[in-house]
Amino acid sequence: MGKLIKFDHVNTHGDFEKLLSHFGIDYTKKGNQLRALCPLHEDTNPSLSIALEADGDTKPNTFHCFGCHQSGSIIDFAAHLDGGTLREGAELVAEISGCGVAPAKTKSAKKPGGAKQPVKGRTSSKGANSHPTAGKRDTSHSEAPESVSDADPGNKPLRFSLQLDCAHPYVAERINAWAREQFGIGVCDPDGRSMMAGRCCVPIHNAKGELVAYAGRRITDDPEAEKWLFPPGFKKMQELFNLHRVVGVEQVALVEGFFDAVRLAELGIPAVACMGTTASEAQVALLQGIGVRRVVVAFDGDEEGQAAVPAALSLVTRCMFARHGALPVGEDPASADEMAVRQLIA
Ligand SMILES: [Zn+2]
Repeated sequence: MGKLIKFDHVNTHGDFEKLLSHFGIDYTKKGNQLRALCPLHEDTNPSLSIALEADGDTKPNTFHCFGCHQSGSIIDFAAHLDGGTLREGAELVAEISGCGVAPAKTKSAKKPGGAKQPVKGRTSSKGANSHPTAGKRDTSHSEAPESVSDADPGNKPLRFSLQLDCAHPYVAERINAWAREQFGIGVCDPDGRSMMAGRCCVPIHNAKGELVAYAGRRITDDPEAEKWLFPPGFKKMQELFNLHRVVGVEQVALVEGFFDAVRLAELGIPAVACMGTTASEAQVALLQGIGVRRVVVAFDGDEEGQAAVPAALSLVTRCMFARHGALPVGEDPASADEMAVRQLIA
């Protein structure tokens, strides 16, 4: 079994800066203090404070959030974010910081960075190969487009994964088994302390297939909760959902939402979602960068969606062929009947 982990040793010698980088969290450093957007709640002001050295009553290598008031040791922090046990948190911190207590066996069994796979065996199922678009989902593709803007570094790949329950009724009712496996969609542990806890999470990848964020949909009726949550700092206008699975495809449908793109994929229609009703120049550049030549703008058939179509068309036609794929009034690609959806791209 695993080696004895000395929690005290890891708490003292763990490297908080390396841990934040591991989780893709940007931070600023002032003296012995780090500041960052808190990943444990929806933070807009950097409210996460990390003390690297003892300061008054504050112990060294501890965090405190002035927004959600969570606090604890570096191991607590790793365990919260990784969605694992304290022991797993300690192993992760030890491995990242080079404290050298994680047993070699555990290290080699894990993927680089030591983070766990959220949906084991689900994102790479054998069954997926029988699907018409299965050949297009090579996540190791290296022909990523150039960075969309020199001035903006874009979204960093995540080095952690949420633990997702793919069999949750909310997901099972809406997304079929093939799509759940293909897209790794699931519900994040409701007892966890991640900002996505209890939400239906959709992994978002960049063109290289690197995980850059999770979008979390509210699955309760709570009117106070945002319908969709994105991690603090995530620039959704710089990504397209499902982009890495349509690399090499000449024509794609551009839809608004995650579940629209998932539905089209189920029908064998390559689609990307701009995650809203506004397509950005950066998103069009992404499509161009992977070799797309024709785009069918298939926004929702509601007023808002249809009102957004002209702007999307004019943006896309600057560099490739674009046309409008109209749906019956009130329908969206996720809900429309199969005939209507197939006519979009006919
Ligand atoms: Zn917080």
